[in-house]
Amino acid sequence: MHASSFTPARYSRHRELHRSDRIGWLRASVLGANDGLISTASLVVGVAAAGAAPQSIIVSAVAGLLAGAMSMAAGEYVSVSSQSDTERADLERERGELATDEHGERAELAGIYVARGLDSELAARVAEQLMAHDALGAHARDELGIHDLTAARPLQAALASAASFAVGAALPVLTVALVPRAQLVPVMVGTTLVLLAGLGALAARVGGASVLVGSGRVTFWGAVAMAVTAAAGMLFGAAG
Ligand SMILES: [Zn+2]
Repeated sequence: MHASSFTPARYSRHRELHRSDRIGWLRASVLGANDGLISTASLVVGVAAAGAAPQSIIVSAVAGLLAGAMSMAAGEYVSVSSQSDTERADLERERGELATDEHGERAELAGIYVARGLDSELAARVAEQLMAHDALGAHARDELGIHDLTAARPLQAALASAASFAVGAALPVLTVALVPRAQLVPVMVGTTLVLLAGLGALAARVGGASVLVGSGRVTFWGAVAMAVTAAAGMLFGAAG
């Protein structure tokens, strides 16, 4: 019926949504960089603590960067495409229901507004007017909770995840390449913690949260990760 006008742009017009979309993008990049930094630095600390030679350490660091970036890309691709498939299927089913049972769909929508606190007369009027304006859009938002279909670009999301992970992992790889073996572990731990504190502060600032808390949290977990891999490295290094 008049159900075909659900377009992504319409739902990203909302100002707050726009703002949080941008934040979401930046947040995802910072989180990806955190991941790359923590996992690659921890890998290096573990391998170095086991007493590995410089050559093996740099191979581990580069392999860690590539493996992590590919894994992020694969995970993001699968996650974004399956969400997008689900949303599309939901919308398709909704479009069919609207075409075959408009009356029932109007009652369904009115029921949702009653559950949210409108009286039944007002709910029926709201449902009727919203559906006259954009039936599929009203059901997408209020029944399915789909606000923005454009967010689903799997390949773009996969590349962005891989790239941000690789940027974060680049620091440990460079550190391994440039710092002498004897000073590697303390320099790696120090630079990683400083950079994590900076990234945590940036993420918190962008998201409007407390900079101190945001930066403390990520630094703490980075320290835990490196301590765990260092302990494992020493254990296996001693055993070998
Ligand atoms: Zn519906």
